[in-house]
Amino acid sequence: MTQTFVRPAFLDQLDQDMMIGGKRVPAASGKRFETRNPATGTLLAMVADGEQEDVDRAVAAARAAFVGPWRTMKPAERQRIILRLADIVEAKYYELAMLDTLDIGAPLSRSMLGGARAAALLRYYAGQITTIHGETLPNSAMGDVLSHTLKEPIGVVAAINPWNGPAGMSVWKAGPVLATGCTLVMKPAEQSPLSALRFAEMCIEAGVPEGVINVLTGQGAAGAALASHPGVDKIAFTGSTGVGEKILHAAAATMKRVTVELGGKSPNIVFADADLDKAVPAAATAVFANAGQICSAGTRLFVQSSIREEFMERLAAYTKTIRVGDPLDPETQIGPVVSSRQMEIILGYMEKGKSEGATALVGGERMTGGAYDAGFFLEPTIFDDVTDDMTIAREEIFGPVLSAFSFDTIEEVLARANATEFGLASGVWTRDLATAHKMARGIRAGSVWVNCYQMLDPGVPFGGYGMSGFGRESGMHHIDDYLETKAVWIKLD
Ligand code: NAD
Repeated sequence: MTQTFVRPAFLDQLDQDMMIGGKRVPAASGKRFETRNPATGTLLAMVADGEQEDVDRAVAAARAAFVGPWRTMKPAERQRIILRLADIVEAKYYELAMLDTLDIGAPLSRSMLGGARAAALLRYYAGQITTIHGETLPNSAMGDVLSHTLKEPIGVVAAINPWNGPAGMSVWKAGPVLATGCTLVMKPAEQSPLSALRFAEMCIEAGVPEGVINVLTGQGAAGAALASHPGVDKIAFTGSTGVGEKILHAAAATMKRVTVELGGKSPNIVFADADLDKAVPAAATAVFANAGQICSAGTRLFVQSSIREEFMERLAAYTKTIRVGDPLDPETQIGPVVSSRQMEIILGYMEKGKSEGATALVGGERMTGGAYDAGFFLEPTIFDDVTDDMTIAREEIFGPVLSAFSFDTIEEVLARANATEFGLASGVWTRDLATAHKMARGIRAGSVWVNCYQMLDPGVPFGGYGMSGFGRESGMHHIDDYLETKAVWIKLD
């Protein structure tokens, strides 16, 4: 395997501290945890293991920055800072991409794709800053009364992030915070803390005042302490549905605003009239990209009966050509999964699928031998003959595992696609306009991709129905979740 890459200078420092109040600081306890490369097992860094005292410090720093000049800074000045940040992130994205690739095993070619999106996201939020405004409202109160609204930043935001796309997630969480004049305590996942810390340094370089963006590294317990902290006004959580439920409970006591972006079990539906040259590779990428560790992965494939045999043959052949290996090799399409724990969970689901009667048409095992032995590599796996009641048809696996079904009619596939507690995303492949529209209306999910999959844009909202959560990230209304509306009444007579 060829390895042509530059190791980020950031990693010259083995001990990685948190970012609180603009300073890199160790945990109050002095404790650290390891983060390792899942492709090789190599130790990357010893990261500050934040606990309650660090949560208190980070929230205090965010509060101090919020009541400082940041909140009242002229919109145009905040806009200049975010645009500078966008330029820095774009110019130095290689560092963030490399840190993510080393931390989670995503192929570098894939991590690098996030650069353009990250810069576009920041520029989108920068564009919104000067459009935030209240309204003058007519009222029918007695006498001469002027009423208007003010839009005000909500305050201190806690972002709690998953590990599957760390750098992009940091930017997605910071964008609306910076746009609205809020401040942030961000807790990256314990599996992938590095790029969030480097991103926070870039914020300082861009002129974001100290304390506006804080990064609290630590375990789930640090996230729990943050979620229940009385000094936090809003939580933006992205992660599993199980932890999302805990966040809602934790937030209730102090009535925090909450948005939760959670898991999924998304249907990808191929009709007989689809362009199979596009639909076949897309069906594979929809589920196997990032080794299946994408919330919106198309993990349930429904193929119309009349083309099922041909489709599955072509999909199996395509899947066998996918290159699994060293994330730093430019030819690699899929790297390892993030950890041995995640690998064991996925292998458990594969066994469950087999024991419940599904056939592994392709894959179904851990990859071993040579360089594979040092990491957590799994075969891209397609289960055929899956029935709707099987565990692998219902639960989020978060690994490279596809469950395939067949269907006959639109009505049937809509009912079966919607028979899930989740509702994050979906794909539809058809050349028929009426079918496309009927499916787009009928599917119960936050995104419907027709003749494409996994498209994202700063201007288009993304989020879930049902147990996939609530709130939308991106799109013009995203910043509304970070703003309070105050009504002002002025008696003029
Ligand atoms: P996870 O829920 O295990 O962890 C997410 C974050 O929550 C981590 O930072 C973790 O430390 C923290 N955490 C753990 N326990 C906590 C607690 N009790 N209180 C507060 N915080 C706590 O998720 P993960 O395994 O890191 O990520 C995978 C999951 O994320 C999948 O379910 C995936 O679908 C979901 N996800 C959703 C989206 C989306 O936009 N909908 C995007 C990416 C990932």
